[in-house]
Amino acid sequence: MQTLLIRVVAAAVVTALAVLSFFVIRFVIRRILKARYFASQEFRAHKAALAAVVAEHNEIAYYAEELRRWGSYQLGRSSSGDRAHLSSFENTSRWNYRRDRNRPNYQAPNVHNCSLQIVRRASAEPLKYLMKYFDIRADEPTLGAVEQLGENIARLENAMGNLHSREVSIARSFRPPRFILKHYRDEFMDRAGVYVSPIAVPYPVYVFEYVSAGGNSSQRARVWLDTPTIDALANELCRQMRFQESAAGQRALMTAGLREAIKKRDGYTCRYCGVSLAAEPHLLLEVDHIIPVSRGGRTTPHNLQTLCWRCNRTKSNKLTRH
Ligand SMILES: [Zn+2]
Repeated sequence: MQTLLIRVVAAAVVTALAVLSFFVIRFVIRRILKARYFASQEFRAHKAALAAVVAEHNEIAYYAEELRRWGSYQLGRSSSGDRAHLSSFENTSRWNYRRDRNRPNYQAPNVHNCSLQIVRRASAEPLKYLMKYFDIRADEPTLGAVEQLGENIARLENAMGNLHSREVSIARSFRPPRFILKHYRDEFMDRAGVYVSPIAVPYPVYVFEYVSAGGNSSQRARVWLDTPTIDALANELCRQMRFQESAAGQRALMTAGLREAIKKRDGYTCRYCGVSLAAEPHLLLEVDHIIPVSRGGRTTPHNLQTLCWRCNRTKSNKLTRH
């Protein structure tokens, strides 16, 4: 009986060791192959051949970081905690068991503290409640701010999407062994000289939050302002202002649809330098107000033009400097 037990244990130990050494050996072999690949003539030749493509990718990555740094990604605020910083909160009840697990957040301007009923209604009608409780009014300055936010978000999304497609295409032209991209993608990008930016699009998020008196339960509804939501919000403001009737179509809404229509109208070609998507499949194109909104320019098709990112950056640098 005992010898049987010893045999079973021994067999189990041998099996475990075999499995372990299989993984260790595979790991070691993979590392050797990886070192070989990065030292190979093939890799270095590809790197030299793609230097210009990689350099352009990196320039756009820095440009995206510039957009992230200089753009504003805020809109409206909740006044539910405007003066909350003047007080401190303390629970003085005798039976403190599991209390205050949920504390209302009065400091964040993106959080509206409210009743459970409002949380539920906000999740059913997010735009209506967003406008009501975050002070987003149906007037021309607010609509302008919503469109500006949409512009900033879309410009950054556009640049990030462009970077992603460039990265895929760079990896494809190197054609490394499959395991390299599977296990060492970051190292591959690094060694190829590709700067992979860590930034993400900072979508504003608005929260309706209910915290019960004892702090034992809380519920929340969130509204993400991504491009479709921002476009829907702009349309809603516009509808409430009855813009179409009063301004007699003088003004178009700056939405994803309009940006695409302008690019199409311009044949996906930069109106300054003439570079086109047909000539450069990864070209980053943007839509620009010829006379900027800040100088009274309107959102009408004849005040909009397609520019490549370089020309647009040069133009906005000139405008901010003078
Ligand atoms: Zn251009």
